[in-house]
Amino acid sequence: MITLRLVGHQAIFPVSDVLRLFFGPIRTLDSGEIQADSEEEMEIISLLEKDDTSESREKPSLLSTIINGRCISTTEMDTLPLNRQVKRDLYNALSRFTGRQFPWGSLTGIRPTLVAREVDSERELEAVYAVRSDKSKLAIKTARSEDIVMRQIPADSLSIYIGIPFCPTRCSYCSFPAYDMSSGTNILPDYVEALLTEIEMLQPLFSNVDSIYFGGGTPTVLADEHFDHFLTRAVSLLKPNVRTEITLEAGRPDTITLAKLESAKSNGVNRICINPQTLNNQTLQNIGRRHTVEDFEKALSSIKQMRFDSVNADLIAGLPGERSSDFKLSLDVLCESKPDNITVHSLYKKRTARLTREEVMQSVSEAEIDLMLRYAHKKLPGMGYIPYYLYKQKDTLGGHENTGYSLPGKECRYNVAMMSDAYSVLAIGAGGVSKRVYHHKRMERCDCLKNPIEYIRRVREMAERKRHFFDV
Ligand code: SF4
Repeated sequence: MITLRLVGHQAIFPVSDVLRLFFGPIRTLDSGEIQADSEEEMEIISLLEKDDTSESREKPSLLSTIINGRCISTTEMDTLPLNRQVKRDLYNALSRFTGRQFPWGSLTGIRPTLVAREVDSERELEAVYAVRSDKSKLAIKTARSEDIVMRQIPADSLSIYIGIPFCPTRCSYCSFPAYDMSSGTNILPDYVEALLTEIEMLQPLFSNVDSIYFGGGTPTVLADEHFDHFLTRAVSLLKPNVRTEITLEAGRPDTITLAKLESAKSNGVNRICINPQTLNNQTLQNIGRRHTVEDFEKALSSIKQMRFDSVNADLIAGLPGERSSDFKLSLDVLCESKPDNITVHSLYKKRTARLTREEVMQSVSEAEIDLMLRYAHKKLPGMGYIPYYLYKQKDTLGGHENTGYSLPGKECRYNVAMMSDAYSVLAIGAGGVSKRVYHHKRMERCDCLKNPIEYIRRVREMAERKRHFFDV
C-alpha cells in the first residue's frame, strides 16, 4: 500500500495526479491521505515548511518529499505556482526512489502546451519539469501552431458541440458514456427531437458562431432519412455563414453511406472525421468494431470524391494486443491516402470501459506505446503534417498524449478553441459541458444531464439553464 500525507499545504489534486502516474488508480480518504494499491509499503509525506530564518518570515520556503522516513527531495520555493512546485518535488522524489521516469515528467496536467507557452525554450521544459526532450520539442512546436490557429478565431466567437452519444456497438476500450445501439432499445428518435428542441431554444446565441462540431458517439448512426432530417433542421437553426467550420464525426466507417455524405455536403459540412483507430482487421474484431479495413478504405474514398474541405482520421496507439509494428503499419497505410488531419491518440483507460485497466496493462506495455508515438511524431512531420493541438488524459498508459496533426492550413478550429480554454463553447445534448470564457482568461462551466432518457425528459430545463449561463 502506498500512502501519501500532505503537511503544510493542501494541494491534493496535483499530488494525486503524480501518484496516479506512478501507481495507477488512487483514492482520497476522509483524513485527507491519498492511497494507491501496491504490493510494496511506502509512506510518503509532501511537506511545505516556512523558513523562519529568512527575512520573508511569513512565506513558506522549503518543499520536501519524505519517503519511508527519508528525505528524498528538498527544493527552495521559487516563483512558479505552488501546485506545480508540489508536483515537481513529488515527481522528482518518486522518480529517484523508484528509478522510473515518464515522458512528460511532472507535467501531469491535460494541457502541456499551456506551460510550453510560458517558457523560453525546450530546455526550460526539460530542466524545470523533467520533460523528455522529444516531448518538449513536440509541446513547443504544437504551442506555436495553436497560436497561429487561435489568431484565426475571433475573440468573442462561440464554438458549438452537438453530441449524439450513440454507437452501433461498444468498443471494448471505450470510456465514453456512449449507448450501444445493438442492445435493442431505441430512444434515438426521441433524443434527436430533444436535440432539435434544445438547438431551437438556444437560437439567440448563434450570432457569432465560428465552428460547429457534430460529435458522438457516432452521429452517422442515424438512418439515412433520419440523418438528413436532423442535419437539415439543425443547420437551418444554427445559421452558419460561409466561414463557419462544420465538422461531422462519422467515426465508424460502417455507418457511412453515400446518402449521408450527400446530406452532409449539401448542408455545408466541410470537415469529416472517419476514425478507423487501427488498420488491422484482427484488432478491429478484438475491440468490438463491426467494420473492416476495407470498409474504411471504401468510406474514405467516397468522402474524398465528395471533396470536403478537410478529412480527419484517428488512430490509437496501444490498442489491446497490438505491437508497435502493427501501429506503424496502420500509420504507414493511412499516410498513403493522405487525409488532411491525422489524430494520434494514446489508449485511455477508465473504469467505465469493458476492458479493465489491468487487462490493458497486460496487453500492451508503456515501452511499446512509447515506440508507437515516437514513430508517429517522426513520420508525420516528414510527410508534411504539423502538430496543432495536444492534450493528455489522466489515465493513459505512461501518461502519454493525444496529438492532432494537420497539413498546413487544414487545422480544425473547433479543436483548438475547445482545448485552449480561451473561447466559449456551447455544448448541446446529454452530458455536454459548456464553457464560458471571460476576456480569454476566467472560465466557468455549465454541465448538462448525462443520461439521455433524463435529458429527453428535461431538455427545456437544460436549454433554459444554458440561456441563463450565457445571459440570453
Ligand atoms: S466509436 Fe467511440 S464513442 Fe463509440 S463506442 Fe467506440 S470508442 Fe466509444
